[in-house]
Amino acid sequence: MKGENKVEPVKAYACYLKDDNKRMNSSSGAVFSALSSYIFSVNGVVYGVAMADDCRSAVFISVTDEEGLKKLRGSKYLQAKIGDTYKNVKKDLLDGKTVLFTGTGCQINGLKNFLQKDYNNLICVDVICHGVPSPELWRKYVYYQEKKNKGKLKYVNFRCKDESWTNFGMKEIIQGEKLKKKFISKDIDPYMLMFLRDYCLRPSCYECIAKKVKKSDITIADFWGIHRVATEMNDGKGTSLVLIRSEHGEQVFNLIRDKMKWKEVSYEDGVRGNPAEYSSPSRPSQRDTFFEDMANLNFNELVSKYAVPTSEAKKIELKRKIKHIIAPIIQKRGGYNIYNYGVLFIFFDFE
Ligand SMILES: Cc1cc2nc3c(=O)[nH]c(=O)nc-3n(C[C@H](O)[C@H](O)[C@H](O)COP(=O)(O)OP(=O)(O)OC[C@H]3O[C@@H](n4cnc5c(N)ncnc54)[C@H](O)[C@@H]3O)c2cc1C
Ligand code: SF4
Repeated sequence: MKGENKVEPVKAYACYLKDDNKRMNSSSGAVFSALSSYIFSVNGVVYGVAMADDCRSAVFISVTDEEGLKKLRGSKYLQAKIGDTYKNVKKDLLDGKTVLFTGTGCQINGLKNFLQKDYNNLICVDVICHGVPSPELWRKYVYYQEKKNKGKLKYVNFRCKDESWTNFGMKEIIQGEKLKKKFISKDIDPYMLMFLRDYCLRPSCYECIAKKVKKSDITIADFWGIHRVATEMNDGKGTSLVLIRSEHGEQVFNLIRDKMKWKEVSYEDGVRGNPAEYSSPSRPSQRDTFFEDMANLNFNELVSKYAVPTSEAKKIELKRKIKHIIAPIIQKRGGYNIYNYGVLFIFFDFE
């Protein structure tokens, strides 16, 4: 991370939605869902990012009800196609609809530049953004997983909380002869490793202007470090950081906060564990070679060069897999009988 461009908000909160079901399907505390439900209650439109039906790309779509919202919930870690979205937002605004537009800071700034004027019926919410990975890398990864698992990718959740909010992983459903459901820890999954090691981000993400110029009404993010700031706000299922950036943002937040558990915090406490709020990731020296290799190497070769998990991550993954194999066996037997023991051999290939 480099450079510090702190743009202090009006207020900062730790919060999470009281509806656990929606929260477990959201990346952090489901503030986005709370905001969207309010927009639906006034017959408004919500714009955000969904995976395309074939899971090969991320696209902006608009939704007007809770059913549609399911597609927008959760972070999709790749650059999303914007298409005609800005034009459609403008049309909805001119038609007098209340519009919630959500995206990365640069996408919000892009919309505001396109609109050229303020609209009272528009609320803009950005996510604190570490950077967006190359969509081409994502397509190669999908092809690699589909080949390896002999099927088609039907569903992906980049922020599956089955293990925990902090120790998240990718959940993938692949349809072949059999339906395969996989959980792959972020510390093992090659795509997540290339993302989190910053090899595959857009060039502009290393010099992010949106960290200095914030045009959103509200910023939402994971409240990393909440256990140190307000333990009562940390139940392990996901807590959001909310930064209020405008009067309009404050008014809307006040309308939804009864649906949430919340606590006001200082900006410094809010962002201490989240440098992506104010600084861009450093451009790794291998970033250019990475893109050349992505074009020339096969995915397995790319993995061995850039996405080998640490030995610590491998050990943790081994323990996790053993736990998941043994727990159902013990449960089925109604407990553990130490006299009826045996030897368990398990062979794994690490993702
Ligand atoms: C590429 C990316 C990088 C991020 N980096 C950080 C970070 O460094 N630190 C941090 O605290 N939080 C980061 N976040 C945000 C965080 O993961 C959560 O999205 C945020 O906390 C909102 O969570 P939620 O539970 O309220 O709602 P969720 O239901 O998880 O919210 C989903 C929201 O994210 C938007 N979204 C999803 N995918 C994309 C995409 N590809 N492009 C634009 N918008 C998208 C949706 O439109 C929706 O508004 C990042 C998100 C993305 C997409
Ligand atoms: S890091 Fe900055 S430039 Fe990159 S996607 Fe996020 S907001 Fe946009």
